[in-house]
Amino acid sequence: MFELKGYCFPGSLDQADELLHGNKGNVILGGLLWMRLGRKSYQTGIDLSRLGLDQILETEDKVEIGCMTTLRQIETSKTLKKCFGKILSDSVSHIVGVQFRNSATIGGSVFSRFSFSDILTALLALETQVHLYRGGTLPLSTFLELPPKKDILVKLTLKKKAWTTHYQSHRRTATDLPVLTAGLSLCDGQWRICLGARPARAILAPKTAALLPEKPDDAQITAICDQVVEELTFGSNPRGTKEYRQILAKTLVKRGVKAICS
Ligand SMILES: Cc1cc2nc3c(=O)[nH]c(=O)nc-3n(C[C@H](O)[C@H](O)[C@H](O)COP(=O)(O)OP(=O)(O)OC[C@H]3O[C@@H](n4cnc5c(N)ncnc54)[C@H](O)[C@@H]3O)c2cc1C
Repeated sequence: MFELKGYCFPGSLDQADELLHGNKGNVILGGLLWMRLGRKSYQTGIDLSRLGLDQILETEDKVEIGCMTTLRQIETSKTLKKCFGKILSDSVSHIVGVQFRNSATIGGSVFSRFSFSDILTALLALETQVHLYRGGTLPLSTFLELPPKKDILVKLTLKKKAWTTHYQSHRRTATDLPVLTAGLSLCDGQWRICLGARPARAILAPKTAALLPEKPDDAQITAICDQVVEELTFGSNPRGTKEYRQILAKTLVKRGVKAICS
């Protein structure tokens, strides 16, 4: 179990930022599901839960998801389903259980950049921007490449477009960490193919996606399934070998493309 020497509810993001950088040992708290597994000792825990950052807000051209929004809110949001289909709800529905998803936050999930992340796989298949208090606004793909740096992830924004989407994960048991994750989307004739838990962090396969026509035939789908394992790297861990993941990648991409086309 980790240790906090102090706890505070800042009244504004300015105050939260001041506190975070005021002492090396101060830390932002999300839902604490991951942090509680550690044994670190921190100075002050900064709880953002009184800043109204637990909202999913739809504007004319985008949807904003505040950092304290829980995975369960994402799973059950009618707004997200209407704008992006089931990709986001399907990406979180296998994470442990409802009680867990009622506490785990999107801020903690994205800021942690987990290599096994379901939700990063889905968010990358959409056009997602990350809003950092100090680091400004940047595409999720850029954020994932940056070295970790102390900051506050304030919210995510997702562009509203004519998306058709699909999400799948392969797991050894229903609520285990995934062996491989696949998020696909089609918008204005452009495909996005994202694979995660390779076991490295979720990543797009832009070359493969560019080769895929809007309405591919079976031969074209088979060709891009071969191409995706050429473009991306896969590895082994106790959940599966590199070769197993390559086979899964082909299967999940094929199923995803077929589901979107149908
Ligand atoms: C047992 C278990 C099983 C899991 N299985 C899966 C799975 O199958 N698939 C999957 O995708 N995920 C899985 N996860 C990850 C989970 O979904 C969450 O992503 C994780 O718990 C972090 O979210 P949290 O709100 O608990 O963050 P916390 O534990 O509170 O924080 C995690 C880190 O993020 C930082 N942080 C939190 N919020 C912010 C913010 N707004 N700005 C800056 N930094 C912040 C904290 O300082 C901390 O370093 C699992 C986690 C656990 C513990």
